[in-house]
Amino acid sequence: MDLTKTSIDKNTNAEIMLDEIKVFAPATVANVGCAFDILGFALHNIGDEMIFRKTEKLGITIISKGLGNLPTEPKKNVAGVVAIEMLKDKNMQFGIEIEINKLINPGSGMGSSAASASGAAFGINKLFGWNYNSHELVHFAMQGEKLASGAEHADNVAPAITGKFALIRGYNPLDMIEIDAPKDLYCTIIHPQIEIKTIEARKILPKEIALKNAVIQWGNVAGLISGLYQSNYELIGRSMKDIIIEPVRADLIPDFYELKNAAIQAGALGCSIAGSGPAVFAFSKGETIAKAVKHAFNDTYKNNGISYHLFVSKICDQGARLMD
Ligand code: ADP
Repeated sequence: MDLTKTSIDKNTNAEIMLDEIKVFAPATVANVGCAFDILGFALHNIGDEMIFRKTEKLGITIISKGLGNLPTEPKKNVAGVVAIEMLKDKNMQFGIEIEINKLINPGSGMGSSAASASGAAFGINKLFGWNYNSHELVHFAMQGEKLASGAEHADNVAPAITGKFALIRGYNPLDMIEIDAPKDLYCTIIHPQIEIKTIEARKILPKEIALKNAVIQWGNVAGLISGLYQSNYELIGRSMKDIIIEPVRADLIPDFYELKNAAIQAGALGCSIAGSGPAVFAFSKGETIAKAVKHAFNDTYKNNGISYHLFVSKICDQGARLMD
């Protein structure tokens, strides 16, 4: 692939050599029912597109296109924050233009900020031919998440970098484990067109939980992880029960329990809130059931006056990647 392109400097009319790459940065779903803040997965065909260009002008320039009306000041855009951190780490100056074509709505629960943060870490590493490994790229991307949500959580950015499922066993130091998705596992998503900011959805969470609830919850987390490793779809389904976070956040999503019941009736393995919502996701075994769940979501929402988008996707086995 020839990445070298030319451009004309508007002031001098001189031809400048630019290197340019285009990156696909996938949407992700974090929490996965019971595994709050420690598990996420990447979606196959839903995500943002980003273009990275070397520029002669030093510093970071952000161009924002598509959804969301994002800030273009580098310190206020998660992609800019990641670029600043990478520049600091290399102790060098460079000129870079980051064009974000935002296709995942911010505040959707589908990892909009994580897509930009991890796409930036991946793209800048590629553009300059650096050799940061995926673990280091996740670290950089987490700085972007800190800006968006107030917490350096990795459960969206890790799968956005590595693809598949990513389990964050611990943060001090970051310990992340990639888990392959069972081959017939499909995800159906409904995204009601309302915005819930992660930072707000975190404020309503309980500060402490009862031991008996913790026991139930970690039994489900262990069951979910075992189910993924064993491709045991029934075990995945019966483990996708969140008794701590979902009951508190359900009120933020209109008709959440109606959506959940409809998904289960249509044959889904389980259904819960994607990230901090408002998107709701369901797992199914096979595409036929995943599409039936999509119809069930549609039937539940079509008359409630809120507009929405529907998606069916496999789990992506690759994270951020170069596009032709
Ligand atoms: P999501 O879970 O969809 O990423 P968040 O609430 O975590 O939603 O993050 C969205 C917030 O991050 C918004 O306030 C948005 O303005 C801010 N933000 C800054 N830069 C970006 C970016 N490049 N992409 C998405 N959101 C961004």
